[in-house]
Amino acid sequence: MYICQSKSGAALSIALLVLSVTARAATPAAAPGEPAVSTWLRCGALWDGRGGKMLGPTLVEIRAERIVALRPASAATPDGKVIDLSALTCVPGLIDSHTHVLLQGDITSADYDEQLLKQSPEYRTILATMNARRMLSWGFTTIRDVETEGAGYADVDVKNAIERGIIPGPRMQVATRAMDVTGAYPLIGYAPGINVPKGVQEVDGADGGRRAVREQIYHGADWIKVYSDRSYQVQPDGTLDDIPTFTLEELKAIVDETHRQRHKVASHAMARQGVHNSVEAGVDSIEHGNYIADDDLRMMVQKGIFYVPTIFVGEYVAEGRAKAGAPVWKQMGEIHEKTFRRALKAGVKIAFGTDIGGFDWHINPAREFGWMVKYGMTPEQALRAATVGGAELLGWTDKLGTIEAGKLADIVAVPGDPLADVTRLEQVRFVMKAGVVYPSAAAAP
Ligand SMILES: [Zn+2]
Repeated sequence: MYICQSKSGAALSIALLVLSVTARAATPAAAPGEPAVSTWLRCGALWDGRGGKMLGPTLVEIRAERIVALRPASAATPDGKVIDLSALTCVPGLIDSHTHVLLQGDITSADYDEQLLKQSPEYRTILATMNARRMLSWGFTTIRDVETEGAGYADVDVKNAIERGIIPGPRMQVATRAMDVTGAYPLIGYAPGINVPKGVQEVDGADGGRRAVREQIYHGADWIKVYSDRSYQVQPDGTLDDIPTFTLEELKAIVDETHRQRHKVASHAMARQGVHNSVEAGVDSIEHGNYIADDDLRMMVQKGIFYVPTIFVGEYVAEGRAKAGAPVWKQMGEIHEKTFRRALKAGVKIAFGTDIGGFDWHINPAREFGWMVKYGMTPEQALRAATVGGAELLGWTDKLGTIEAGKLADIVAVPGDPLADVTRLEQVRFVMKAGVVYPSAAAAP
């Protein structure tokens, strides 16, 4: 069980508080005609994500699943249940826009093959439910899960089980199986006569792309995920080259069919040609983007295409992949940093995404914040990417991303000032999703 790591009395009392609040918040709303009972959060400080300064002590009124009002804490003592977070800073629930709940790390192809060859989709789904719970305990109240890596449509089931209150977890948008062209995506390297599972749906031709989009959306995909490039090489001028997978015609057909059905496309594109084709085809987000040419950054700004850089995972896998015969990974971080700084300068929209599942699920993905700051963002910009930015990417600005009246009560709290020290976001001590309190991973204050 991944709830409280400390067994101290303080931690226990917080756990009991959390359980009792959860039970209360989960009780049915007031009967018709009766006034609904409010819950109040007494925050020591509050960053609401609306562009202003950090607020001082603030009361947040919550009724059922929504925020009703914010008031200075000096206001009269509120009626109803008060949760004391006066030692903490409240921020909007965090959004990780690039996760893989069905994957348990894949530094090398052997790690990946082992999961697809030796673990049933059912077993992988059980692990995914634990991963969803971990994400919530770290303060991520919303995630975009960008493909199941061979576990079919299991992400749709995890999402539905969370929505129906069967298991705890963040609210999810899911991409189901993802797409790549024939022969480009693992498992690869097996004898021709041996049928091995694939980490994606293999799709060829414009018509094949349209058909796959229809199929995946029919089975519950919110997003269509495409792998737009592979096989990376550093060029003499320091840029990163690739082999594009889909032709531009294929990508355009996939994007057109997806948009026609009011869905969005996320494109794994790490280098020059994959990014260029994706941007040209009009995808909605570039995933990883280790190298992006200046012209493509400009086009991303013009078209409003998001950049989801996933920095930490690259650093995490670099050494293992270089040792396993892909020395390009030694230079990947440096190229990525330069791209990130150019994207920031160009004004590209950036959303926080980590690729957790590509690294171990015992590592708090909030480490990404520190890397975004190391690569040139202010702590506030990084926090914005994981709140306001994520909400915009997911099309949920009407209900998520900021702490203000009318929005869903997704609020987390950390010790200290995350705008002064962004690593504070790795220490979430209070988690509320849609007005319900859940256990947080960090020990008590
Ligand atoms: Zn990924």
